[in-house]
Amino acid sequence: MMNPKSKDCVFCRILDGSIETDIIYRESGIAVFRDANPQAPVHLLIVPEEHIATINDASGVIVAECMEAAKKIAKDLNIAENGYRTVINCNKDGGQEVDHLHVHLLGGRKMGWPPG
Ligand code: AMP
Ligand code: ZN
Repeated sequence: MMNPKSKDCVFCRILDGSIETDIIYRESGIAVFRDANPQAPVHLLIVPEEHIATINDASGVIVAECMEAAKKIAKDLNIAENGYRTVINCNKDGGQEVDHLHVHLLGGRKMGWPPG
């Protein structure tokens, strides 16, 4: 079942235009915009248009579509060859703050490991 857009969800409000944000890519149910608190020279959020709270609630198809979008954008931004990181935080221990599934795409610098 499709989840309705949630008026309480910040990413749904970005997607419906009620929070003004520069959406840099929007295709086939996926949207991409810049993270408001960037942790790297490139820090984008890849978000399904459908309100899905966490990766636990998402189909593999939607997760794959988000990852395909990440790959395409990394290539378009010329960070694919040097490399980049994709992150999906899930729930409390994963550090998820916005309960609308999103993939972080981070690049433009060397990433540390392990994550904190
Ligand atoms: P997470 O901790 O994985 O849920 O990540 C949520 C991310 O959303 C954080 O990196 C925030 O900086 C980012 N964020 C929160 N509100 C906004 C907003 N209005 N526009 C863009 N990014 C946002
Ligand atoms: Zn939402």
